[in-house]
Amino acid sequence: MTVSRRIVLHFPRRLVDRPIVYRLIKDYDLEFNILKASVTPEEEGLMVLELKGDQQNYDQGINYLGEAGVQIQSLSQTVTRNEERCTHCGACITICPTSAFELDPVTRQVRFVDEKCVVCELCIKACPPRAMELHF
Ligand code: SF4
Ligand code: SF4
Repeated sequence: MTVSRRIVLHFPRRLVDRPIVYRLIKDYDLEFNILKASVTPEEEGLMVLELKGDQQNYDQGINYLGEAGVQIQSLSQTVTRNEERCTHCGACITICPTSAFELDPVTRQVRFVDEKCVVCELCIKACPPRAMELHF
């Protein structure tokens, strides 16, 4: 059976320049599409991938990533903002690797563009009033 999944990979700093995705694709015969790639302020690598292939190869590839020390997150999780809690302080703007927060220059309000969110969870810890929430 062929599966196609969107996942987020978190590479610790020590793995950022290792050819892990290259080996994943080559050794497990998977097709991939990189939707986003960035380096967070802590120099962690972040990559959003669409992976497609035979179920068994996919499962083995995911195992390989886990054993290599890559943290894998499914995009079935979502992050939302509790509008009542947000104080529009702007702390999330610089921390978000995909620029999912935008400051309105006129109203000084921070807009959350959830289509840009890759569920890296960085804003959850960074938001002083804990307005950003993770849902499964
Ligand atoms: S850090 Fe939290 S409170 Fe501040 S603008 Fe972002 S979501 Fe709102
Ligand atoms: S979880 Fe927060 S910091 Fe990460 S991409 Fe989504 S909005 Fe940006």
